[in-house]
Amino acid sequence: MVLEAKCPQCDKRAEANDDMTRVECKYCGLDLSYDEYIEVMKGRAVTMADDFQINLP
Ligand SMILES: [Zn+2]
Repeated sequence: MVLEAKCPQCDKRAEANDDMTRVECKYCGLDLSYDEYIEVMKGRAVTMADDFQINLP
């Protein structure tokens, strides 16, 4: 079984392996542990929230 994840680097389709220990992207060569992947995605969410706040009146 291969779980799909969104690649934080190129926004294409990355894949998590069966035991959810690694996330790999065949498109850009991303290769992270699952924990690192979660941290990167958290960082992206924070960045998006900051951008949103900047745009508030
Ligand atoms: Zn990628």
